[in-house]
Amino acid sequence: MAAGSTVDHTTLAALAAGLGGDLITDPDAMDGYRRDWASLVPAGQPAAVARPRTVDEVSHCLRWANEHGVSVVPRGAGTGLSGGSTALDGCLVVSLTRMDRIREIDADERLAVVEPGVLNADVGRAAAPHGLVYPPDPGSFEISTIGGNLATNAGGMRCVKYGVTRNSVLSLQVVLADGRVLETGRRTVKSVTGYDLTGLFVGSEGTLGVITAATLRLQPKPPGQTMTFVAVFESILDAGEAVAAITRAGYVPSVLELMDRATINAIEDYKPQGLDRTAAAMLIGQSDTADAEDQVARMAACCDAAGASASFCSTDPYEADALMAARRLAGTATMEAGPTIVEDVAVPRGRLTDMLRDIDEISARTGIDVAIVAHAGDGNLHPTLRLPDLEAPTLERAHLAAHQICSAALALGGTITGEHGVGALKRPWLAEQFDDTIASVHQALKSALDPRGILNPGRGF
Ligand SMILES: Cc1cc2nc3c(=O)[nH]c(=O)nc-3n(C[C@H](O)[C@H](O)[C@H](O)COP(=O)(O)OP(=O)(O)OC[C@H]3O[C@@H](n4cnc5c(N)ncnc54)[C@H](O)[C@@H]3O)c2cc1C
Repeated sequence: MAAGSTVDHTTLAALAAGLGGDLITDPDAMDGYRRDWASLVPAGQPAAVARPRTVDEVSHCLRWANEHGVSVVPRGAGTGLSGGSTALDGCLVVSLTRMDRIREIDADERLAVVEPGVLNADVGRAAAPHGLVYPPDPGSFEISTIGGNLATNAGGMRCVKYGVTRNSVLSLQVVLADGRVLETGRRTVKSVTGYDLTGLFVGSEGTLGVITAATLRLQPKPPGQTMTFVAVFESILDAGEAVAAITRAGYVPSVLELMDRATINAIEDYKPQGLDRTAAAMLIGQSDTADAEDQVARMAACCDAAGASASFCSTDPYEADALMAARRLAGTATMEAGPTIVEDVAVPRGRLTDMLRDIDEISARTGIDVAIVAHAGDGNLHPTLRLPDLEAPTLERAHLAAHQICSAALALGGTITGEHGVGALKRPWLAEQFDDTIASVHQALKSALDPRGILNPGRGF
């Protein structure tokens, strides 16, 4: 039974039986499980929403779906920005939010064993009393789940120094399409026995299996005090040059974020933070090394040399927290101001300025207003298309702008998605990045693990 077909009452009753009767089929109750934050991606009507509490219940759901040929959409908190957890017609949504236990913090081995529905920030809070940190920190860290972070290989602000989610996972428990339970990896720091199956499932966007547990790497809290610098620019291109200069000079910031004027103003409109509304762009950088004060002074000097109109370094942790809090508001402030499509491309850091120039030209050509926020130290930009309305001609121009932004990133040696995933949103441009060989290897892996194609079809690959 493919997406779009119906599932009869008796078949659903068999599914409910393995979930202690706890299955949602009421359309109103299912509505909150139909979309993620990519609100313009069309949402289907699920046949049912399962909210398993155990790996056995997840296994039951997948065995049932595989037997009946029902599409499965795994779902975390639904904060995704590419439509990856948007429901398909006739699908079974498997919501993992009830599997929300932190099973273990092993301070000696510096690891955490968690269920997929645990919120990212809760892992950090559990690690903190042990002097440990879980580094990946997507802007959504208070509202997104570890399962969703793993399935999208989420990034964040600290990733410029500590790597993305992939770099912080040792092993996974995954339920395969036929209901079998796979344990990947080990608890050891090193293990090269067999293929890197953990790596295969990280970033697989719910298309290869459902993650039901993860062993995560924790890091010692940096010993020194984190220092912060801010630089404002009259030209966003100068800010791009400053990032390239900081990278070229070999500095390793623990945060390096860029916001353009439109983003700064969206934040100020949403919740005033005292940011300079007139700045064309602002860079916020941090260092957490033992010589952090010296490091931020050097990075600020790179900004001055690249043409910053002002820069300052802060030793005040409250001021630093306030700046970071302002930056964290960027996504919500821009998205809540009106209809948006949040793009997510990444380019080599030395090409950031070229990408910023290209975005400006694309915006002028298509007449679509674009606000930019970027994990600049990673070369990862979120040009956010701000739509005046949802009329067909506007959507057509927005689609064209999104396509041109992806093509421009590819032409600069970049990628069509840096951290949000392909989902449903990026599928039209996948073929521009993948040649036939890459596509066929993806297809072979998908067929081997999900021969009936039930797992999140039409998403990712
Ligand atoms: C304000 C805001 C800021 C954000 N900032 C960032 C950022 O800085 N960096 C970043 O990377 N992203 C960011 N995001 C996007 C989003 O939060 C991430 O993609 C996050 O990882 C999604 O987690 P989730 O729990 O909401 O997953 P969902 O949106 O529910 O699902 C995302 C994908 O993962 C799959 N999935 C979910 N759980 C599982 C599971 N247990 N097993 C298998 N597949 C699963 C789904 O099928 C879907 O394909 C932001 C979003 C918002 C709204």
